[in-house]
Amino acid sequence: MNTQDYIQLEETYGAHNYKPLDVVIERAAGVWVWDVDGKKYMDFLSAYSAVNQGHCHPRILRAMIDQAQRLTLTSRAFRNDQLPLLERELCELSGYEMVLPMNSGAEAVETALKAARKWGYTVKGIPDGEAEIIACAGNFHGRTITIVTFSTELQYSAHFGPLTPGFVTVPYGDAAALEAAITPNTAAFIVEPIQGEGGVIVPPEGYLRQVRDICARHNVLFIADEIQTGLGRAGKLFACDWEDVHPDVVIIGKALSGGFYPVSAMLASREVLGVFQPGDHGSTFGGNPLGCAVAREALNVLVDEGLIDRAAELGEYFMGRLKRLESDNIQEVRGKGLLIGVELTPEAGGARRFCEALKERGLLCKETHHTVIRFAPPLVASREEIDWALGHIEDVLMTL
Ligand SMILES: *Cc1c(COP(=O)(O)O)cnc(C)c1O
Repeated sequence: MNTQDYIQLEETYGAHNYKPLDVVIERAAGVWVWDVDGKKYMDFLSAYSAVNQGHCHPRILRAMIDQAQRLTLTSRAFRNDQLPLLERELCELSGYEMVLPMNSGAEAVETALKAARKWGYTVKGIPDGEAEIIACAGNFHGRTITIVTFSTELQYSAHFGPLTPGFVTVPYGDAAALEAAITPNTAAFIVEPIQGEGGVIVPPEGYLRQVRDICARHNVLFIADEIQTGLGRAGKLFACDWEDVHPDVVIIGKALSGGFYPVSAMLASREVLGVFQPGDHGSTFGGNPLGCAVAREALNVLVDEGLIDRAAELGEYFMGRLKRLESDNIQEVRGKGLLIGVELTPEAGGARRFCEALKERGLLCKETHHTVIRFAPPLVASREEIDWALGHIEDVLMTL
């Protein structure tokens, strides 16, 4: 079978809820992937930052095989010998007191919303059924019905109603708007420290500190969705660390398993995660020993290989070179660490054609919001690999 055969099969039998680049990948290692025709590409998306540790990292692979040969699933009806270790390691690494593991990012977001509502009723004293949660315009937190309720991207919620009440949105990066939207019934504010899917939007310097302060003053939980920005991507363990801010709740996923397996988690204080009683919430696969063993090693790799500092250094270099580029196509270059967006001018004709041109040159990246190219290579990329990519990126931005 060749590329066209696979595409035809997928178009025939699969739901058309994505519009992927027409490359059919069959294997990968580190920053590189190979398609079914044997062509090699550098991955500049990293599965939306789920493979920060690089594809098929040998240490994570080993941990997965070892664990799969021993024990994969107990359900939470019984205990297993991996979950407690992951929980302790996550708390020690992050500075939080408690962990609730789930599978997908959206599930962890749902978990945080449920915890925030229950905290609002049982700790803050919000009248039953009245809790409000504030989110930001341009957010992306996942695809469940409740989560798309507070998306401002109309396609995400259109025809999926009736939607979930109790959510309001405020402009992103605007602390005064947040404070004005808070009422006595506000339980939480959920925000991405950098909006990834929204187009790599970096809020004004000081915003997260202001959010921290406002939430504390009004007894509102500050929930940071670090599913994409966390675990080194933005050049710190959490992107909130750039402003030395400690949110009440942090949500992680994606790179938590280095791309091997869906693992996500909600991290919080005992006051917040302590609201859950047996039976309040759960997941058959959440906290399973296979996922926990994979996540433990994925975290070890991040730390042992110094990938967080590496993202900061490479990101600064990469962004510096893009910023020096004098191309009529570029409106703005922004980002932190190795989460970098190039906003194209309205005249540039959209980001997709740049991604297609880069694909032809052996570089896989994805447009977001039509006019932004997102660059997010695995954090294990070498300086030489980054230079090779930059050569093509500069060329395409200058000549297309
Ligand atoms: C990817 C993402 C999610 C959703 O994660 P899934 O694993 O796709 O459910 C939520 N929030 C942010 C910021 C994300 O980037």
